[in-house]
Amino acid sequence: MTGGVLYVVSGPSGAGKSTVIKKALDKVEGFTFSVSYTTREKRPGEIEGEDYFFISEEEFHELKEQGEFLEYAEVHGYYYGTSKSFIKEKLDEGFNIVLDVDVQGSLNIKKEMPYDSVLIFVVPPSYKELQKRLMGRGTENEKDLKKRLEDSKWEIQRMEEFDYLLENNDVPESVNRLISIIIAEQLKISRIKDGLEEKVDKFFKYDFS
Ligand code: 5GP
Repeated sequence: MTGGVLYVVSGPSGAGKSTVIKKALDKVEGFTFSVSYTTREKRPGEIEGEDYFFISEEEFHELKEQGEFLEYAEVHGYYYGTSKSFIKEKLDEGFNIVLDVDVQGSLNIKKEMPYDSVLIFVVPPSYKELQKRLMGRGTENEKDLKKRLEDSKWEIQRMEEFDYLLENNDVPESVNRLISIIIAEQLKISRIKDGLEEKVDKFFKYDFS
């Protein structure tokens, strides 16, 4: 699977990853979101096939057996997995891909595709702010909320294994920063795999037009 780049966005639940990703994707062309499989329940407003493919644990294990996951992990008590076929299809169509996966999944993707993945860690300004955001959105029951807050403590410790840090204090600024990361990565000479020689040739050609 080569061609495009995987932009892997991770960080504690409640850091604001999905909002930042959605808004950034509205502003860039040639990028698409990787829709994962999950066994957690659909939240109000979430759309099947757009936010996630919502499946049962049994279906999840079947897909796992079939080798359908590029990576998968148990996160905050539920299973989540990145669809290998979805990623392959989108890369074949010429897209770059933005993923929202947990810390373990991000590091596994980096291991599998060290040159074609960029890892971005999103943090809220403080633990207190994280608590406030998670409680404020009201999407989790008390047990799930506690688990997410507890998990955030070890997730933060893995930050230094990522390529970029994005402190999410202000959504529009974070969106701009995410887009800046994407643009900078796309401009890397090492990523301009095709056409570099033509670019050099073109430079030396006299243009009569
Ligand atoms: P949520 O339930 O809030 O949508 O997501 C919970 C966590 O699961 C988030 O940290 C999110 O990044 C992560 N997640 C979502 N999809 C995947 C996936 O395909 N693989 C892994 N490893 N984590 C995922």
